[in-house]
Amino acid sequence: MAHIVFIGLGNMGRPMAANLQKANHSVTGFDLSAEARAAAAAAGLKVAASEDGLFDGADVVITMLPSGAAVRAVWSRALPQMAPGALMIDSSTIDVTSSRAAHDLAAAAGLLSLDAPVSGGTEGATAGTLTFMAGGTDEAFAVGQPLLAAMGRRIVHCGGPGNGEVAKICNNMILGVSMIAVSEAFNLAESLGLSHQALFEVASTSSGQCYALTTHCPVPGPVPTASANRGYTPGFATELMAKDLRLSQEAADASGSRTPLGAAAEDIFGRYAANGGRGRDYSAVISYLKTL
Ligand code: NAD
Repeated sequence: MAHIVFIGLGNMGRPMAANLQKANHSVTGFDLSAEARAAAAAAGLKVAASEDGLFDGADVVITMLPSGAAVRAVWSRALPQMAPGALMIDSSTIDVTSSRAAHDLAAAAGLLSLDAPVSGGTEGATAGTLTFMAGGTDEAFAVGQPLLAAMGRRIVHCGGPGNGEVAKICNNMILGVSMIAVSEAFNLAESLGLSHQALFEVASTSSGQCYALTTHCPVPGPVPTASANRGYTPGFATELMAKDLRLSQEAADASGSRTPLGAAAEDIFGRYAANGGRGRDYSAVISYLKTL
C-alpha cells in the first residue's frame, strides 16, 4: 500500500483517485476548486483543504491538471517536501517541453518521475480501463506500473521522459485528422446522393476503416453508441481536441517536423471551438465543415 497524494480532482482525477483508493492505497486528494473538493469528498475520498504539509511523507504524487504551467508549479512546490526515491506521476495532457522540464526538476531533487497521459475519457477513468502511455526511466516505470494498473487496463512504456506525452499528442493528431476526413466523406457522399448507411457499410469494411468511423461515427445511425445519436453531447469535447491538436503543432514547430494535415486539423477544430463547438462532441465538426 502506498501513500498517494492526488492533485487535480476534476472529471478525470476524481474517478482515478477513487480507483486507487479502491485498490487499498491511502489516497489524499487536493484541488484548487472548492466545488471539486466537495464532489471528491462526497465520492468518499479523503480531501485536504490546502497543500500545507500535504506532500510530507508521500510515496507518490499524481497530478491530473489542465496545463503544463499548473503541473510545473505543483511539482516545484511538492518536490522539496518529498523523500528521495519517491515517485512523481503526471497524467495530464500537456506540452512535451513542460513535461520534460518537470522530469528534470524531479531528477534534480533525487526523485523518480513518469509522464503517464491517458486515453479512454471519463468513462475509462470511472471503469478503471484507461490506457496509459508512460515516459520515464525503467526504474520509475517499475515502481509506477502497479499504480497505473489500478486505474487502467493497458499500460505502455513509451521510452524516456516526455515520450508518453509524445505518444498522446501523436495519437490524437491521427484522431483529429481522421475525424475530419470521415466527416468530409459523409458530406460529399450526401451531396452526391449516397446514404450514410451505405457509405458506412462500405468504408467500415474497406480501406477507409478507422476509429473515427467505426466508434465515433459523426452521423446518427450506423454506430448506436456514437455521440451523433445523442445530439453530439461529449464524449470528447471539441475544445479538448483543439487543445491536443495545438499541443501537437507546438511540438511539431519546436522539433521542425512537417505536419500539414495536423496543422489544418488544428485550424479547423480551433475555429470550431471558438464558433459554437465548445461543449459539443468533436464529431460535430461534420456540421461545421458544411459552413466553411
Ligand atoms: P477538469 O477541468 O475537469 O479538471 C482539472 C482540475 O484541476 C480542476 O478541478 C481544477 O480546479 C484543478 N486544478 C487546476 N489547477 C490546479 C492546481 N494548481 N492545483 C490543484 N488543482 C488544480 O479536467 P479533466 O477533464 O479532469 O482533465 C484533466 C487532464 O486530463 C487534462 O490535461 C486533460 O487534457 C486530460 N484528459 C482529459 C480527458 C477527458 O475526457 N476529460 C481525456 C484524456 C485526458
